[in-house]
Amino acid sequence: MNISRELTAKEKLKPLFDDPLKLSFGRNFTDHMFSMNYSGSGWHNPSIKPFQPLVLSPAANVFHYSQEVFEGQKAYKSKKNEILLFRPQENARRLNRSLQRLCMPEIPEELFLEAECELLKLEERWIPTQMGTSLYMRPTVIGTEAALGVKPSNEYLFYIILSPVGPYFKEGFNPIGLWVSDTYSRAGSGGTGEAKTGGNYAGSLLATREATQKGYSQVLWLDAGEHRFVEEVGAMNIFFILDGKLVTPALDGTILHGITRKSVLELAPELGLAVEERRIAIEEVIDEIHSGKLTEIFGAGTAAVISPVGKIAFQGRDHIINGNQTGPWAQKFFATLTGIQYGEIEDKHGWVFKVK
Ligand SMILES: *Cc1c(COP(=O)(O)O)cnc(C)c1O
Repeated sequence: MNISRELTAKEKLKPLFDDPLKLSFGRNFTDHMFSMNYSGSGWHNPSIKPFQPLVLSPAANVFHYSQEVFEGQKAYKSKKNEILLFRPQENARRLNRSLQRLCMPEIPEELFLEAECELLKLEERWIPTQMGTSLYMRPTVIGTEAALGVKPSNEYLFYIILSPVGPYFKEGFNPIGLWVSDTYSRAGSGGTGEAKTGGNYAGSLLATREATQKGYSQVLWLDAGEHRFVEEVGAMNIFFILDGKLVTPALDGTILHGITRKSVLELAPELGLAVEERRIAIEEVIDEIHSGKLTEIFGAGTAAVISPVGKIAFQGRDHIINGNQTGPWAQKFFATLTGIQYGEIEDKHGWVFKVK
């Protein structure tokens, strides 16, 4: 791919942050972005240029009919000064599955990876080095055609922006509280729950606001049909340690195919933990918390990697898991995954992709 480059003059580059450990999520952006356009003739015009506002028609498809999909990834700096990505081929594949679902044109995997690598090499100075910090990457595709008729856009924009981020857990690896929504659901059968698309998030904001107003950090989503079976936690996949096994809801069409989820499931047997992918009802979760067989709950996703759960509010009562303490398995998965991601634990699976 022949990427055109328009670079910011050296003296106009933004100053780096003073303390990467204090960076909040997704508020600071690097100097440059990647972008590429699609029209009837395919993807064209790949370019790297200064980070800048988009100019779009107010009638652009994305503003009205929400043709939008995205990815969330992190670039890490190893002690050997390498730039590392974690299973980016999986992100490329998932982006294409999301694009298909939203009736949008796919992006060849090698093109996607090349765009990421070229932008990262240019923006290397923005990758913070402290453990827990990283350069968050947000590849995004939007429908840009100015047409109010309901149909797929004929024109698209693919862009990648980068945002240096501090550690997700600023006050230590502490458990969060969940609120079970019995009114709202995140995704229905046959819907777009499996696609990483903005509309899923828009639909989840009201329930999340209710949860945070009640003092809980995230929503525990149940299935849309019966409001019974556990699906996800906030924008993370969910895991239970139940009867000494790792239990997680099976991918049924409404659950996002998390790459962290997939990695946890692949690591578990190696760490001596049997895996069960199946439906799990909220009543079972509550009963087994009280029977003592359910010893840990945690969420898994790129942003936090692993997020332990200490409390679940269901039908007006709080249920405490593991004395509201982070459990040993959450700890173990967090240490193993982050160790691999930063190049500090041997990468037996070939998950680490070296940009340079
Ligand atoms: C992105 C996302 C996840 C986590 O996926 P990862 O690939 O592990 O980051 C889980 N659930 C939802 C709804 C998501 O959007």
